[in-house]
Amino acid sequence: MFALIDGNNFYVSCERAFRPSLHGLPVVVLSNNDGCAISRSDEAKAMGIKMGQPYYQFKHLERTSRLVCLSANFELYGDMSARMMAIAAGLGPLQEIYSIDESFIGDLDGITDLTRRAHAVRDRILRWTSIPTCIGLAPTKTLAKLCNHVAKDAERKPGSYPAELARVCNWSELPRHIQLDVLQRTPAGDIWGIGKRIAAKLQEQGIQSALDVARLPTAQVRGEWGVVLERTVRELQGISCISLEQAPAPKQQIACTRSFGKAISTLPPLIEAVSEFASRAALKLRSSDQLAGALLVFAHTSPFRPGPRFNKSS
Ligand SMILES: [Mg+2]
Repeated sequence: MFALIDGNNFYVSCERAFRPSLHGLPVVVLSNNDGCAISRSDEAKAMGIKMGQPYYQFKHLERTSRLVCLSANFELYGDMSARMMAIAAGLGPLQEIYSIDESFIGDLDGITDLTRRAHAVRDRILRWTSIPTCIGLAPTKTLAKLCNHVAKDAERKPGSYPAELARVCNWSELPRHIQLDVLQRTPAGDIWGIGKRIAAKLQEQGIQSALDVARLPTAQVRGEWGVVLERTVRELQGISCISLEQAPAPKQQIACTRSFGKAISTLPPLIEAVSEFASRAALKLRSSDQLAGALLVFAHTSPFRPGPRFNKSS
């Protein structure tokens, strides 16, 4: 059995941890330079703000609809992530940190009260970090991802899935007809590992839902689509093919780059930024116990601005 623990609206939840007055308000976290939305509270989603939507398109809602837009603070999110991951690790013996707000926990077979334990870990993460999470439990990673999606939607879209599946959803406790219903309601393109391109090609062949994918004959899938999709089909059928990756491959490159909020024309802010990024990169290097063979520093003017250009590296 695997668990997938995922922070809800993660960056917004991190901001709310330190500014409780943001609870209940529509909140958006913006990308570097306040370009576009990269995290939205449920209230902001309900207002129709889309992931990746440019800021200027919804900026007026700050005045008219109490929308709060915040510049991203990735230092804070990294810190909160480490705390959340440390508590999540308590659910089982193995952990794969999959992204800043998601981790798989593995080797959960034989734990009889897994659902209750998952609720306890979820409550602990909420109490100790104030990050709300949802947990999917299933015999394969692909189904654990799907159950996480069900746990989320059951909570925030009442009526989409049975209410008792909210927050923690355990595939192995679902009656078969609910499992089939969940697969039927899930578009093929929402399955972990099926990208936009493959989803479009599947659609051309009339394969629309996760259930359609799960029912494909595996031998035919391997021949026509390759082993990657074959693995996904088997995982949807409950046969585990994708194992936990505990040790990510060592990094070949560590990059620390940012664009400046406004154009700079003097040396001191550039020196400050370069030394700060160098020390941050060095911190990452040390924390992964690696050595660097080369160091590259570059600076250039924005390619989107008119005027003289500068571009140098050494
Ligand atoms: Mg998330």
